[in-house]
Amino acid sequence: MRAVDLIRKKRDAGEHSREELDFLVSAYTQDEIPDYQMAAWLMAAWIRGLNRSELAALTEAMLFSGEVLNHGDIPGKKVDKHSTGGVGDKTSLILAPIVAAGGLTVPMISGRGLGHTGGTLDKLEAIPGFNVNLSLEGFRRVLRECGMGLIGQTAEIAPADKKIYALRDVTSTIENVGLICASIMSKKLAEGIDALVLDVKAGSGAFMKREEDAALLAEIMVETGNRMGKKTVALITDMNQPLGRSAGHAIEVIESIEVLSGGGPADLRELSVELSAWMFYLGERTMNIEEGRRLAETMIATGQAKKKFRQGIKLQGGDERVVDEPQRLPKARSRVEVRSTSSGFITGTVCEQFGIALAILGGGREKKEDSIDHAVGLEFYKRIGERVEKDEPLAAIDYNSGARLAEARDLITGSYLIGAEPPAHSLPLVRRIIGN
Ligand code: URA
Repeated sequence: MRAVDLIRKKRDAGEHSREELDFLVSAYTQDEIPDYQMAAWLMAAWIRGLNRSELAALTEAMLFSGEVLNHGDIPGKKVDKHSTGGVGDKTSLILAPIVAAGGLTVPMISGRGLGHTGGTLDKLEAIPGFNVNLSLEGFRRVLRECGMGLIGQTAEIAPADKKIYALRDVTSTIENVGLICASIMSKKLAEGIDALVLDVKAGSGAFMKREEDAALLAEIMVETGNRMGKKTVALITDMNQPLGRSAGHAIEVIESIEVLSGGGPADLRELSVELSAWMFYLGERTMNIEEGRRLAETMIATGQAKKKFRQGIKLQGGDERVVDEPQRLPKARSRVEVRSTSSGFITGTVCEQFGIALAILGGGREKKEDSIDHAVGLEFYKRIGERVEKDEPLAAIDYNSGARLAEARDLITGSYLIGAEPPAHSLPLVRRIIGN
């Protein structure tokens, strides 16, 4: 079999067999197919799409590119959550300690920033010393000791996704239902979990802008999870504006700690509690979602979730003092405010542009080998529906290099849509639930 023939087949809208996808994934993972050929195939697949049987075959080829973990020696249910990606989405940092403190095990394999969206691994690496590259034995040890572990794909776990994800990030081949499903489900199914909660984002800051596309993605991911014997549910949640008040790395760690301390922005707290509640329910820790919500709130109010976060950071080599002394996190040299050019009400945001602005300031990657500036961040002062006056600050930018500051500033100013009237109705944060 030759990669060039598979590229041509997909380019011409052909259907791949399971053997062809197995070959493509395993040869690329073993460096037998170069990046340029895989990039060409990904673009062909992005344009032509993958049907359900190709999707199942691709997901399984990526899943079995590495080891599928089994944590049978760790008592209790193992549950995880995964988001399809958004701007300011830091719920993993909050719900992993909540759910672990509440008695379940959370073996979380996360990704790095992708396109305009931030990644959990990059955020965690803002914590000095935090090691997301634990060995499998190290991962199991951390899970056994504290009930939560957050790592990236390794040479052993879903290595195909590790390579393909990095390539998609820089070749504009992200926003495709089939490729997203295969990427997420291959790493989640390798984690050795009993149940999975998916947070599928819809809106201007998500890969799926339209709710129908997000629902389709949710359905195929739920179907894939259930087919592989995992209880799976998807929440379609709003991403028409950043989640919480911040986007970046160190700044998002700080906001996560605020929520774990009982404060933080209402939307972020609500979604973190809601996702935790579903994890408690699917993990059979509570009888229903309402009880799950109460348990999540209790873990925050009693300080148990925050204590768990400290323990998790320490066990993964990080400086746990950041939880009480956030000034130990990387801090940018400069801050500038972005002001409104008109008066009126915020009717919406082109939320993706906030993520792009962050990336061009050094908070994201344009090439696979780029490193991240963890101190770069955005703080949002205004939300959809709020009134703003001309020259009033809308947001602040924390930055180290001013080289592309003007470009980032223009993107942010242009992201706020301002009209004479407030929007007629506001969308709920959780729009629908699929798979329950
Ligand atoms: N998150 C992932 O892990 N993969 C994708 O393709 C998109 C979001």
